[in-house]
Amino acid sequence: MKVAFFSTKSYDRQSFDLLSNIHSHEITYFEPKLDSNTVALAQDFDVICTFVNDYLDEKVLLKLSNMGIKNIVLRCAGYNQVDLKKAAELELRICRVPAYSPEAVAEHALALLMTLSRKTHKAYNRVRENNYSIEGLTGFNIHGKTAGVIGTGAIGRAFCKIMLGMGCRVLAYDINESEDLKRLGITYLSLHDLLSQSDIISLHCPLTPDTFHLISEKTLRQMKDGVVLINTSRGALIDSQEVINALKSRKVGNLGIDVYEQEEDLFFQNRSEEILQDEQIARLMTFPNVLITGHQAFLTNEALMHISETTILNLDELEKGKELSNEVKYRPE
Ligand code: NAD
Repeated sequence: MKVAFFSTKSYDRQSFDLLSNIHSHEITYFEPKLDSNTVALAQDFDVICTFVNDYLDEKVLLKLSNMGIKNIVLRCAGYNQVDLKKAAELELRICRVPAYSPEAVAEHALALLMTLSRKTHKAYNRVRENNYSIEGLTGFNIHGKTAGVIGTGAIGRAFCKIMLGMGCRVLAYDINESEDLKRLGITYLSLHDLLSQSDIISLHCPLTPDTFHLISEKTLRQMKDGVVLINTSRGALIDSQEVINALKSRKVGNLGIDVYEQEEDLFFQNRSEEILQDEQIARLMTFPNVLITGHQAFLTNEALMHISETTILNLDELEKGKELSNEVKYRPE
């Protein structure tokens, strides 16, 4: 099949080019992300392959459909960027990589938490400048704290287990509770009770109309003073302006984010020579207790290999007209 890859980075090419069965498909790697300006690149391809910030809205889907494209393969798990209703109307089939490495993302959430708790990012810079003062580097133990996990699917489950191993009391909130996790000692509570009892809160639910701005002025008010908030899921789970207000009032004691509400026009590019126009991320970067990474939680060798293997499996199944193992279907409310 002729496949157009959008938003391709060097690490994508490397992991796909390592696969022995890649040559059954004719892949063209495009660096730009897919939007209404770049959609013309998809002309004459059979399938397009996209990542987290390639927006498949109504306009783009219509253009793809008019070009005769019938299949879209996502190299990611989340599909909030796809207008699934429109895709179903246009009879476009969508496949994804459901779980490429839940541990990679859960471990990154831990990395954000531990960097904030022990200020290793600051210590690293000090020592490199021959400054061995430890003034101002006082941290806090994670052991003995209460960790609240919102969303206990593949990634949330891995994070719950890590937190148990760290010696935390682990609380969870999910619309579907896991009996396995309960057996491991995790306590499911209402969202309100989780928010009011947790010292550390980590977000692992998908972005849906129900979870948009889950962290809002109202829910922030329910949290403990000085709470540590970690988000490796999707930026728009948090109302950025409200979290800035909560950092200013010290309601939020530490914030670690790998995702950001307006990240699509910012992340995955070197913008070091540009003038930053986004006022909210600029403000977030001024806080000494905020740590931001640019959507890299998935980025491990193991996860990249899993992404490439599953994507090729999805392409093979589409080509052979087989039942699709990883299809995303539109489900009306
Ligand atoms: P998953 O589908 O396995 O689990 C999601 C869980 O959230 C499910 O248990 C579901 O019941 C729960 N949920 C759904 N709606 C909810 C709601 N309204 N309130 C509470 N819980 C709700 O997904 P996953 O593989 O664990 O991934 C979670 C999210 O992580 C993805 O949706 C994606 O946005 C994000 N992600 C980020 C990265 C990264 O690199 N930063 C990588 C992969 C995934």
